[in-house]
This record gives sequence, structure tokens and C-alpha cells, in this order.
Amino acid sequence: MDAVRISRVNKTFGQDVVALNNVDLNVPEGELFFLLGASGCGKTTLLRMIAGLEKPDSGKIYFGERNVTQVPTHKREATMMFQSYALWPHMTVGENVAFGLEERGIDGDELVDRTLEALKGVQLEGYEDRRIDQLSGGQQQRVALARALVVRPKCLLLDEPLSNLDAQLRMEMRGEIRRIVKEYGLTAVYVTHDQEEALSVADKIAVMNNGRIEQVGTPEEVYRWPRTKHVASFMGETNMMKGKVDWIVRDNEEGYVVRAISNAGEILQGVVTDKSWKPQVGEMVVASMRPEMVKFDDSGDVINQVSGKVLQRVYQGATIQYLLKSVDGIYLQVSVMNPRKLKEPGEQVSITARQQDVVILKP
Ligand code: ADP
Ligand code: MG
Repeated sequence: MDAVRISRVNKTFGQDVVALNNVDLNVPEGELFFLLGASGCGKTTLLRMIAGLEKPDSGKIYFGERNVTQVPTHKREATMMFQSYALWPHMTVGENVAFGLEERGIDGDELVDRTLEALKGVQLEGYEDRRIDQLSGGQQQRVALARALVVRPKCLLLDEPLSNLDAQLRMEMRGEIRRIVKEYGLTAVYVTHDQEEALSVADKIAVMNNGRIEQVGTPEEVYRWPRTKHVASFMGETNMMKGKVDWIVRDNEEGYVVRAISNAGEILQGVVTDKSWKPQVGEMVVASMRPEMVKFDDSGDVINQVSGKVLQRVYQGATIQYLLKSVDGIYLQVSVMNPRKLKEPGEQVSITARQQDVVILKP
């Protein structure tokens, strides 16, 4: 069952700032679900709406079967952990965590037991009497998590929870948040602008752009099978080449595959990922190939073969990043795992990609 369902939600701020544009979204129970997108695309607005801190102009929000669109925050079974943590610096860790329980009229032994249990859950046992300002950033982050968990929400809402931490701690806490969410059997909606964070932690990702949801899928689906140019480039580096369709290679249950010809005459052949679109002969398309799916090749393979010159090489040990310029003047990136022999700047090369690794998108 879906824990949270958003149906045709719209929100405009002021006269013309469209924060959410006809958003539909289903968050299945028990999933760690990500809202991913650039700053300003509407992530926080959508999260605040699930929390009940913001009202839609139109549309509905359901928790399970229950329409909660008009239900106030404290009567929804969702708690939000804010980007700033919003902890009280002069109070102890225990007092901060217990606050949510007091608000709900819980006191005595139950209050103490549940507070200690929540602290244990985030590995802060024994910290209950410390003051917030005596803690490191990472520990404060754990307190904020404990405070959200202590009320035993069905749904945990996290708004860029790691953005105040340094890189090392961020990596550590990614795994920690996932562990906690799974251990407590929670449904969590997690907002971030960091695609790497989303790819490494999420069960599912909704990629947002300009108040809309462009694609929902597993990390592999949105990375490997992006359905729009925006999703393709937002999820990671990619090479895009334009071409005009000259042949429908396949049109059956296994997919829609087309061949297109670039300006320079290169043959671009790949899979159309947007199921609602069947580009026809003569139509312009874009072929997207990730740098690590491209190989140097001089076998004379004609499909997805592009010739060019090495402009730059960045040695990174495990991988080598090359920047090429194609005959047609297009810049291309190639990422190679630990090769035996390096290509030199100035060298003429050819690259290819397999049909099944090339995604054909609307231009
Ligand atoms: P994100 O979290 O993805 O960065 P937000 O949901 O915060 O995006 O904002 C989406 C858009 O709505 C932005 O253009 C932002 O400036 C605008 N916005 C958000 N909250 C308000 C508000 N309270 N008043 C006016 N505009 C707002
Ligand atoms: Mg935000």
C-alpha cells in the first residue's frame, strides 16, 4: 500500500511563482523515497505539504486511505527533521528529544524510556544530560533524528538532513539514516539536491524540475534509463549528440530502438526510454551516452562510433577522464577504468558505445 499519495497538487506563491505544478506522487510503505532536484524546484514545498505545514492551492494528499489535505500537522503521523535541526541550544539532549513527547501529553516513565530508546537508536546512549552546544555537528544531527523518531512517526520527513555536515560525516550519516529508517520500518521522504547522495541511499527517487516530477524510479532506472534530457544530465555526466532519425530499428515489446544520423554523418543508435514517444523518420533526437559506457575502439564498428582528438587527460588512479573533441566540434567525455596504456593529448581516437547503453531522448 502507498503510505503517502499526492494527487494533482498545485501551489503558487504570490502572483506567479509556481512552486508545484500538477504533482502526482505515490510513496510506498516502508520505502526510503527521495525527492531530488536543483535548488528552487519545489522539493521543500512538497515536503512541507506532506507534513501539513503548507496547504495546496488545489489537489489532495492522502496518508493511506485517509485524506489529510485539511488535517493539521500535529494530527498527521509524520514528523519533519529540518535542515537547520531547530534544536534548543541551552537545553540538554534529553530535554530536546523528550519535547515532542511532552507535546503529545506523554510523561513519567514512558517519557524517560522512550527518550533513552530513541537516543540508543541513533547511537547517543549516555548523552542525555549533555547540552546541545557541547556536541559536534554530527552529534547534533543525530539528536535531531532522535527527536523525530521518538514520537514513532509512520512517516519521517527529512529536508537536506546532511547539508550542514562536512564531507566525511556526510558519507557516514548516509548509511546511518538508511539503517535507522529500515530498522524502525519507517516510510521516509528525503529531500536533497545531491544526486550522488540520492543514488547511494534511496530505494526510489523522484527527480523534480521546475515544480514538476519528471521521473520516478530506482537509482538504476533514473541513472541508466533517464526519460528526459534533464534527468539524464542531472543524474550524472553524460555526452549528448544530436541526430536525425533515418531508421526505426525495432518497435516491439522489447522496446523502441532508432537510428539517427548526426551532422558529421555519425550513426547514433539507441533505445527510446520515454514510453509515450515514438520518434519517426526525419525527427530530431538526442543520443545520450554516459562517459563510462563509451570505449576507445578502432575495430571499425560503425554504430555509435565517433572520431575525435584527445584534448585533455585527468589521471585519477582508478579511472582516467578524457576530454575529446569530435570531428564535428562536440566535446565528449570518456571515463576509463585503470587502463594499461594511456592516450595522449593530441592523439586521434575513435570511441564507440553499444546500442543498449545509448539512450535516445527528445531534443
Ligand atoms: P527547493 O526546496 O527545491 O529548493 P522550494 O520548495 O523551497 O524549493 O521553493 C520552490 C519555489 O517556491 C522557489 O522559487 C521559492 O523561491 C518559492 N517559495 C518557496 N517558499 C516560498 C514562500 N513562502 N513565499 C514565496 N515564495 C516561496
Ligand atoms: Mg529546499
